[in-house]
Amino acid sequence: MIEGWAGNLRDKVKVDEKTGVVTFDVTAKDVAGNANAQLLYDLVNNKKVFEFFAGVGGDGKEAASLFVDGTGNFSRKSDSKQFEERGSLIGTKGREGQAQPAGDVFALIAWNLSFVVRQDSSDVPTPSSLAKAAVNAGKKQEVPFSALYVHEASENLAFDSMGKTTFDSADYGNAHFAAIEREALIRQQGNLRGGFAGGSLSLSRPITTKCKRNKR
Ligand SMILES: [Zn+2]
Repeated sequence: MIEGWAGNLRDKVKVDEKTGVVTFDVTAKDVAGNANAQLLYDLVNNKKVFEFFAGVGGDGKEAASLFVDGTGNFSRKSDSKQFEERGSLIGTKGREGQAQPAGDVFALIAWNLSFVVRQDSSDVPTPSSLAKAAVNAGKKQEVPFSALYVHEASENLAFDSMGKTTFDSADYGNAHFAAIEREALIRQQGNLRGGFAGGSLSLSRPITTKCKRNKR
C-alpha cells in the first residue's frame, strides 16, 4: 500500500523489514502536485511517529498492545474487543475520549482487514465541491483499506498541524474536514477508487464458520 501511495516514485520508498520504519528519499519538489506522494512525504518528514497496523480477526490483543492500558472503555481488553467487533482502533495522543497510543507514538491507526467497509448512500457535510463530488461518486461502494488509511493518516497530520497537546471535538471536526479534502484530491488524481472513506460508512464482518469441537 505504501509503495502504491508513492506512485511513480515507488523506488524511492524503503521499508525496514525489522522495524517497519518507512523512508521516502525524495524532495518536496519531487512530490509537488502529486497528492498521494505528498501524503507519504508529509508522514515521513513529520517529527512525530505515525504507526500503521493491519490485522485480521483474532489480532485484537496485538492491536490493543500498541495502546496505553487505561481504565474502563480504554483498557486493553476493551480496545481488543473494539478491534474485533468494530473493525478499527485509532488513537491520537491527547485526543479526548479516545484510546491513547503507547510510548512515543503520536497516531496509531489499526484496521481489522476481516471487515468489509462500505460507503452507504447518506450525504455527509463536506468542506468543498470537490469533496462533495467524491462523496457522491463513492456511494454504495466498498471502501478500499488504502482509502481508510489515507483518511486517518490525513486526519492525524491535521491534528499535528494544530500545534496543540490536547484535541477536542471541534479540533476533530476540522481535522476530519482536512482529511476529506486530501482524500478527495488524491481520488481526483486517479489514485483511489471505490467508496469514499470520508463518507458515511457501514462496517460488517463476513460470516465466519467456527469449528465446534467436542460437541455432543
Ligand atoms: Zn474522519
